[in-house]
Amino acid sequence: MSTSAEKYGQFVGLLRERKLLGSTMSLLGWDEQVNLPPAASPIRAEQLSAMAKVIHEKNTAPEYVGLLRELIESDALSGDERAVVRETWRDIERALKVPPRLVAEISRAESESYATWIEARNKNSYAHVKARLAELIALKKEYADCIRGSRTPYDALLDYYEPGLTAAETNAIFSRLGPELSTLVGRCNERNAGAVRKKPWRAAFPKEAQKDLNIEVSKLMGFDFNRGRLDEAVHPFCNDIGAQDVRMTTRYYEDDFCPSLYGTMHEAGHGLYELGYDAATHFTPLSEYCSMGIHESQSRLWENMVGRSKEFLSHLAPLMAKKFPAALAGVPLEAIDRYVNWVSPSLIRVEADEVSYGLHIIIRFELEQALFAGKIGIDDLPAAWDAGYEKYLGIKAPEEKKGVLQDVHWFTGAFGYFPTYLLGSAYAAQIFAAAEKAMPNLRSEIAAGRLLELREWLRKKIHREGRRYEAKELMRRATGEEPKPEYYLEYLNAKFS
Ligand code: ZN
Repeated sequence: MSTSAEKYGQFVGLLRERKLLGSTMSLLGWDEQVNLPPAASPIRAEQLSAMAKVIHEKNTAPEYVGLLRELIESDALSGDERAVVRETWRDIERALKVPPRLVAEISRAESESYATWIEARNKNSYAHVKARLAELIALKKEYADCIRGSRTPYDALLDYYEPGLTAAETNAIFSRLGPELSTLVGRCNERNAGAVRKKPWRAAFPKEAQKDLNIEVSKLMGFDFNRGRLDEAVHPFCNDIGAQDVRMTTRYYEDDFCPSLYGTMHEAGHGLYELGYDAATHFTPLSEYCSMGIHESQSRLWENMVGRSKEFLSHLAPLMAKKFPAALAGVPLEAIDRYVNWVSPSLIRVEADEVSYGLHIIIRFELEQALFAGKIGIDDLPAAWDAGYEKYLGIKAPEEKKGVLQDVHWFTGAFGYFPTYLLGSAYAAQIFAAAEKAMPNLRSEIAAGRLLELREWLRKKIHREGRRYEAKELMRRATGEEPKPEYYLEYLNAKFS
């Protein structure tokens, strides 16, 4: 009879094989968005689905599941070993509860709905994609019923992105944030006094020089190009290919450096998280992110709290003047700061400023809960969307592609995902406040472009913990308190009031 130690060793070997297959799939996914010749996309979809099937079969194989069950019962494991077994079981248990027929149906419905959503955006017609969306919601409700136990369907979906958090807890945080964000947006809007956001420069930002700047800034942040890359993609993202290989992407516009620079700082924030795990835990859940909200806290912290701060802009200004002499000669730092930190209500979430961004999320969070609770139907969604924008931002989309059709999430079945964006921003402010307490000279270090101490602090407090704790406990350990939205309000009020 083998001992617990032998069984654990055997399990970790099997787990590693599964994680290696998963990371190979990530590589296929990265390649699909960065390099794939258009004609190859149907084959890539087949390759990905073949890999997904192999991994699913391995994950639900009776020998593997049996070994995992035995280890869950074992009391001879160390704390970290128990965390590895517990988190693996969290994933496997969910996979076991959903019939393969439903998995296949959801995957088919998601690709069909995605393709129809692209057509619907081109036609500017919600009616065109409505039936697909209705089918997807019905399937997701069925999926939620398989995994939810005594929870509500929406709670079960939210838990996939933010383990351990309920809609009620999220509502408590958001109802504290919503009115204050609205007030602050209103105040900024008054101060703009009818003025519109204008670019303060006079010439273009050549793409090659933007690339240089992005690489330089990523290096300041401590991104290790021996273990990662920066490429271009239509929709920027960051992919962990496993252990020593993190691929981030950005996109370039020659009339504005902001999308590529802040996009890069955002993705590098995600990337530093993935590069910051403990090497001894690679290919286990201790080398995986805690939750989507915590992941987003890392990207938002670097993009906004560091990147858009006046301290970092003062460090950036001379670097940029050297790289873009034609565009920036004679442009004062204050003008760039004003452009970068301009606040006013707008229709498109991904283009929103730091303050109004949260309101875009609250609107979506309220709508998806209402959809899953049956309080609104598929026909009511466009009007409910408009009502949300009227209520929180005082504006109305002139057409559906700037309204209910703007985001891909719902049309690919990602319900319960949106709230993690705002949770991440709020976590980021609390984490940054704790970092400032631990490093009293943090702001002057940022002004000097010395960012490695902050990166190290984040690594120790957040990255290296992997999935040891749920977000609430991780926040308590890293910052001394459970998530508190007040930190985010303090940060925004101090910066924008
Ligand atoms: Zn992100």
